[in-house]
Parts: sequence; structure tokens; C-alpha cells
Amino acid sequence: MKLARYSMGIGDRFGREGKTLLSAFVRAAEKGVEITPVWNKSFREHSIIRSTPAETRAAADQAVKQSGWIAPYFVDADHITLKTAPHFVESCDFFTLDVADAIGKKTTDEERDAFIDRHRRFTGLLTIPRLDNSFFITEEDIQSIAAKYLYAVKSAAEIYRHIRAARGEQGFICEMSIDETEEPQTPEELFFILAAAADEGLPLQTVAPKFSGRFNKGVDYVGAVDNFRREFEADVAVVQYATRCFDLSPNLKLSVHSGSDKFSLYPAMHQILERFSAGVHLKTAGTTWLEELIGLAMAGGEALEIVKDIYAAAYERYAELSKPYESVIDIHFKRLPAPKIIKAWDQEQWVQALQHRPEHPFFNAHLRQLLHVSFKIAAEMGSRFTAALDQYRDVIAANVYENIFIRHMQPLFFGNIP
Ligand SMILES: [Zn+2]
Repeated sequence: MKLARYSMGIGDRFGREGKTLLSAFVRAAEKGVEITPVWNKSFREHSIIRSTPAETRAAADQAVKQSGWIAPYFVDADHITLKTAPHFVESCDFFTLDVADAIGKKTTDEERDAFIDRHRRFTGLLTIPRLDNSFFITEEDIQSIAAKYLYAVKSAAEIYRHIRAARGEQGFICEMSIDETEEPQTPEELFFILAAAADEGLPLQTVAPKFSGRFNKGVDYVGAVDNFRREFEADVAVVQYATRCFDLSPNLKLSVHSGSDKFSLYPAMHQILERFSAGVHLKTAGTTWLEELIGLAMAGGEALEIVKDIYAAAYERYAELSKPYESVIDIHFKRLPAPKIIKAWDQEQWVQALQHRPEHPFFNAHLRQLLHVSFKIAAEMGSRFTAALDQYRDVIAANVYENIFIRHMQPLFFGNIP
């Protein structure tokens, strides 16, 4: 099982947009770029709305069938641990092993020393091909990287072996994620993390490091784009070099857990990927559901009332809804308009507030992030919400497609800035 050079994780909270999402991949293929679609949904998302991985699998299979998609596609058990893995083993064929919580835990001294012995040859000047700056590595550096990351990589290998045993002959794709942590990894750290993965026989196809800056859900990158550019470039170069040094899977690539809509980063990423002939896996979050809300706002009338009701409830339940997403959102409660104010907004104001166009006067990143994490309210509405999704399918589909194809795929994979 193999990902294409480019692959993209698509989040679909309610499993209704599969066919539309896939139409963006079909369009990309027609234009000459193969992108592997991966439906991703984490344990957190499933538990919030009580959906199951089997439902995600069914939605993906159905979308593929309806669209006549014949290239590979996958369903990702996103951010799983040893504890949550069993929920996903049957329905998924892509597993994101989240070991961020294991960072900093200690292995035995023997394990650490064996690691240092195996990789002592990289002490001194470490020159990564095609990267301008090189790194000076001491034995103490390897020791401190081992102290920080060796246990985490061993934990990933343990989850991997568990899944392999449970899935028997059925193959799967394996990603290791260390992105949901405080500190970004340096390129040197990533190099030795990959060395440890190779030691453990972990057949990674993607690895998700943490980058500096904020990757908040549903809004653009917050940070210095030039810093990101340097980090991303160094990590791309490290992944390529480590793949050769440690005999890792030849199509190993970075996975960027984008939280969706990181429009300001795509031009830099595209340039670097071209220059290194490298691939990437871009995970988007469930912003598809925000596109559903935009579609409903554009439809107006009763559909717009649904959006207003969702926001009013979300405002009241702010603490509960934002809690599980604390590390990936930055909402200032005071910047959220009160429900009595938004009651008076007309349709155009609503559309502008929701659309991800910061140049619009009513654009509000706080409101957008809050709604991003408020899909639970829509799930509780039941058929009032889902019936509206069916009724206003065309306008919703146009928004979902534009967001994925025009705003994500075009700049990142084709180098076209919309
Ligand atoms: Zn992530």
C-alpha cells in the first residue's frame, strides 16, 4: 500500500461531502496531478458526535463508488494511541500513531546507550545534501535527543505492532505524529527520530513534526512565514537524507497537520516541494463543515436560521466546546459577537463573517474558530441540520469544492495562486 507523491487528508464531520471532496481529486487528476485522498477523523471527533470509523469507511467507499475513482484512497485513524487503536483497526487502512504524550519519557539506560552506539558515526559535522547550513552533532546531542524522543518512537512501534497483529494480512499505511506538543522539533532531532524509527522497523510513509507558529483550526497560519519556510525546507531535506541513511520507506514524506486553510504557507511549500522533488501529505481538518455552514448562510431563510441557532448555542457552551481543542485554537471570548447582536445581522454579513476572506470587513477569526469546534451542536440538531444539508446540496457543494480545489490544491500542488 502506497501513497502517491501528493496526498491529502480530508475531514468530513458528517460524512456527507465525500463525493464533492472527491470531485476535487478527480479534477486534479484530469489536470495531471495525482493526489491520494485520505479520509481522516480522530478519536476526539468521533467521540464528540458519537460517530464510528465504520461510518467514515462507508462514506468513503460510497463516494468512491459514485465517482468512479479507481486510484488508491484510504481512511485514516487520526491521532490514535494504544488505547484508542482497537476502535479503528477494522475500518481504517491508514494509522496516525500519536506519541506526542510520550515525548520526554525515559527509556532504560541500556536502550539509550545502544542507540548512541548505533548512531555515533553521525557525530561531527552533519551535512544534509542540498541544505545550505550543516549541523554540528556531539555525542551529548544524540544523548539528549534520545532522552527526549527514543521512548516516544518505541511507543509508536508498539502501537504499530499491535495494529499489524490485529490486521493480519491486510496492509496499512503508517504515520507517526509528534505535532501536538509544545516545542517544535529541530531538523537534527527529526533526523535522529527517523533513525530511531528505522531501528524499530517502523515502516513510516509519513511523519508529522511540529512546526513553529500556530496551526489553528480553520484559520490561516499565525507566525512568521519565513521561519516556517526554513523549517519546512530543512525537514524536507532531512527526510530525504534520512530515508537513504537508514533505509526507510522510499516514499517517506512529511505530513503537515494544517488545521486547514493555511493559505499563506502554500506558495512556500510548493516551491520547496518542487525544488526537492519531494512529496507531502497535507491534512485538512473538518473545515468542510464550515463550508456547509457558508452554504446554508448563502441559501438564506430557514437555512440561515440554523446557522444562527448553532452560533447562539455555541456561544453559550463556549467552555465545553473549546476545551478539547485548547491547543489548536486561539479564541478571545470578548471578540465573539453576542447572540443578540448576530440576530440582527443580514445574510451578507453572515456570509462575510463565515467565509475565510480576512479582507472582508465582517470576517471574524474568533467566530470562525468557535464554529469550527461546534459541530457537536449540529449533530444534536439531528435531522433539522442534515435535511438542510440535503436541501441545499448544490450551494454547499460549490463551497466545499472551491475550498479544496481552488484554495488548497491549486496553490499547493499546482503552484497556482487563486
Ligand atoms: Zn495533528
